[in-house]
Amino acid sequence: MKMRIGVLALQGSFAEHMESLHAAGAIPVPVKFPEQLDGIDALIIPGGESTTMRKLLNKYNAGIRIIDLAGKGFPVYGTCAGMIALAKHVGHSEQTILGLMDITVQRNAFGRQRESFEENLDIPYLGQEPFRAVFIRAPLIKETGNGVTILARLKDGRVVAAEQGNLLVSSFHPELTGDLRMHQYFLAKVKNT
Ligand code: GLN
Repeated sequence: MKMRIGVLALQGSFAEHMESLHAAGAIPVPVKFPEQLDGIDALIIPGGESTTMRKLLNKYNAGIRIIDLAGKGFPVYGTCAGMIALAKHVGHSEQTILGLMDITVQRNAFGRQRESFEENLDIPYLGQEPFRAVFIRAPLIKETGNGVTILARLKDGRVVAAEQGNLLVSSFHPELTGDLRMHQYFLAKVKNT
């Protein structure tokens, strides 16, 4: 049975995530309204603009339902703005969005000069081959709480991917390269929960 994986389709790079999920052998399901969260196995929250996403999550009432489901073990993967959405703490006293994962993130952490860049990351959890990671006005993970596992760092040591129980986050956009390993890692996690 193919897994049905929701992709929050309010704004941002949801179409690319749906393509990656399809290529990784899952059925992608666009999610805008809370009732669309029924009957799916997991959810991806894509990159985009986190302040806009917060407003739209409130407008369509999907936020409360996601918080409720995630509390019961429903797997959620947040990339870039989606990572900001999952964080319990956002630096510079910005509002939290879903507040689910025990991490502190900083928005737009690379400043203007490095708005967008790519870097090969060693992510042992994905195998030996380096992962080409695309960062676009990306956030960083500044602090991780107990129970959070760090999955990836930049060469300078700064943390850009992590997981905690049913939650997975990355600063970068795995849906923009042909490398499906982050999606496959998430699908394996979904299978095991
Ligand atoms: N800079 C965006 C924010 O703070 C995130 C960028 C992205 O998702 N590519 O919401």
